[in-house]
Amino acid sequence: MSRHSPQPYKGRFAPSPTGAVHFGTLLAAVGSYLQAKKNHGEWIIRMEDVDLTRKVSGADSDILHTLEAFGFEWQGEVLYQSTQDPHYEEALQQLIKQSLVFPCLCTRKQLAQNGSNIYPGNCRTRRLPEKNEHALRVIADDINISFHDAIMGAQSQHMAQQCGDFIIKRRDGLFAYQLAVVVDDAMQGISEVVRGADLLDSTPRQIYLQQQLAYNTPTYCHLPLAVDADGNKISKSEGAAKVDIKNKEKQLCKVLDFLGQQPPADLSACSINDIWQWAIDNWNLRTVPQKKHRPATK
Ligand code: GLU
Repeated sequence: MSRHSPQPYKGRFAPSPTGAVHFGTLLAAVGSYLQAKKNHGEWIIRMEDVDLTRKVSGADSDILHTLEAFGFEWQGEVLYQSTQDPHYEEALQQLIKQSLVFPCLCTRKQLAQNGSNIYPGNCRTRRLPEKNEHALRVIADDINISFHDAIMGAQSQHMAQQCGDFIIKRRDGLFAYQLAVVVDDAMQGISEVVRGADLLDSTPRQIYLQQQLAYNTPTYCHLPLAVDADGNKISKSEGAAKVDIKNKEKQLCKVLDFLGQQPPADLSACSINDIWQWAIDNWNLRTVPQKKHRPATK
């Protein structure tokens, strides 16, 4: 009996260039990096600038510069989603051929009146081509998508009942994140996705698209969310404080502490290289907490 050799580990960090690196961004970078290092794998960076309306000029180089200062090492060129449209288009055409896509003319206002986040199916019977301005939605079938998250455990979502038909190309002509990320993860051969838990409930949509497009499904690992005193996600687009490069040793130790790695108290006095070495040697997914919480203030 022949055995298939396992797919080599390839992880990624996929920031959106909407602002500077804050604690939440650093967390996703560190978690994905340590998982890749621990698995002797590759780690790449993808700039998720598919939503041009949210892009902040210069944020991409600022993010890369910060990562460099922290001592992250990535393989190859950084891929920008804004250069990927032909690939997204190809995936879209494949879904259209499979009769999974319909044009949606509903406005936000109309949908808000519906009182539920699940798309009510108003345009499901419309067919392409459609001359009026429209978004494109993919039909959410009557199926359950289940997966095991390496930190958050068993997950399941019923596509039709809990998600509904979702947008893959927006009314303004931009491809939606859900399609872009699936195409990119497949194209780049990502074997494991490590990212913040705010994307946990997007994952079934992504797995659903992978299945429809006959792509491999990576494994998933969602890190606990860093929240502020009011329990809100620390998010760069809401102007969260930029991480301080001058204090990188302390910041990195704070992230390790947040991720349940229990760095020794004097580790932050070491060099950044020594901190990385400690972090890689001691990286343990089993002690990463599931619940969102506040980073320590010291
Ligand atoms: N670009 C997304 C963000 O910055 C992350 C997407 C992902 O990791 O799949 O929140």
